[in-house]
Amino acid sequence: MTDEDLYRERLHLALEAGGLDLWENNLTTGEVTHRVTRIFSDLGYDKQESLAYIDDLFALVHPDDQPLVKQAIAAHLAGETRQYRCEFRLRTHNGDWVWHANYGKIMDVGGRLGTRFIGVTFNIDDRKRREEELAAANQQLARQNAELDRMNAALQVLATTDALTGLANRRLLIETGEKECRRGPRFAQPLSLLILDIDHFKNVNDQWGHPVGDRVLIAIADLCRSRFRQGTDVVARIGGEEFAILMPATPYEEGKRVAEWLREAIANLRIDVAEDITATCTASIGVASLPAKDAQATDAAWNFDQLFIAADRALYQAKAAGRNSVCGAEG
Ligand code: GH3
Ligand code: MG
Ligand code: MG
Repeated sequence: MTDEDLYRERLHLALEAGGLDLWENNLTTGEVTHRVTRIFSDLGYDKQESLAYIDDLFALVHPDDQPLVKQAIAAHLAGETRQYRCEFRLRTHNGDWVWHANYGKIMDVGGRLGTRFIGVTFNIDDRKRREEELAAANQQLARQNAELDRMNAALQVLATTDALTGLANRRLLIETGEKECRRGPRFAQPLSLLILDIDHFKNVNDQWGHPVGDRVLIAIADLCRSRFRQGTDVVARIGGEEFAILMPATPYEEGKRVAEWLREAIANLRIDVAEDITATCTASIGVASLPAKDAQATDAAWNFDQLFIAADRALYQAKAAGRNSVCGAEG
């Protein structure tokens, strides 16, 4: 065996071991000087059919991939890429598509620039399928994450909302109140809290029935909501027939004025029960405030628990004073 034979055999074995199909084109004449061999049998074509494609493998390239292949060749011919590389699908005898890659290079031989365009074609279908599966799995994951975000947001709303009235619940009121107490002193702004309890609400239920009681609760919730500043105040249902309104940047006098307005509006409420029968009710309201803090004072007074206790105590006084009234404690 001559050295040349040995090299030829080694090249053959290396191509075989690497699953590579060698091709070479003469760019001057346009002639295919070395044809791929194994691809056609791998794609399921018999000898006869292979002949139809042997000089034009690109007839088997997926139409969507053809522009990319042309682009990659053109870029390499123009000297923009050091190596020609592209990936494309080839049509099998059965009409399926199998991913292949082409790596090639224009070789300068004997000073004749860019005559031999030589390279290999090989099957990359496994890798492509895995990439596609991974992409699909990632997409699925992204969809599930979006769904999870949506569900978390819904859960957050549920966890902080009162189902009957749609107002904030006790938890959100306390959370926001504590936040305002941390924030308030820095901005030297007062903070007011109203706590409202419907008077003799048991009687409302007893006299007109529980569903009417619910409608009274909803009507009072709507009244509270109608008056308060969106995005600033928190209107919450904190118990069966108890409501609270947290009003940042609101001094005591203003809080009391709002409470008075609300007390009157509730007393004027008329809920239709039946023809000629309307339900009415009154409420007692306690108001407490933390005054705007000056630079010298400490933050210690800015404690939401204490503010809540003060408003609750004021509410108790309003009840003791005969109900349908507003009492307050200026901080
Ligand atoms: P007071 O003036 O002292 O506050 O008297 P009250 O009757 O309002 O107070 P009490 O706390 O004794 O009764 C509250 C009533 O509120 C009892 C309960 O059945 C009713 N209640 C609580 N939650 C709901 C609700 O969701 N719907 C209805 N319809 N009634 C409720
Ligand atoms: Mg009560
Ligand atoms: Mg009550």
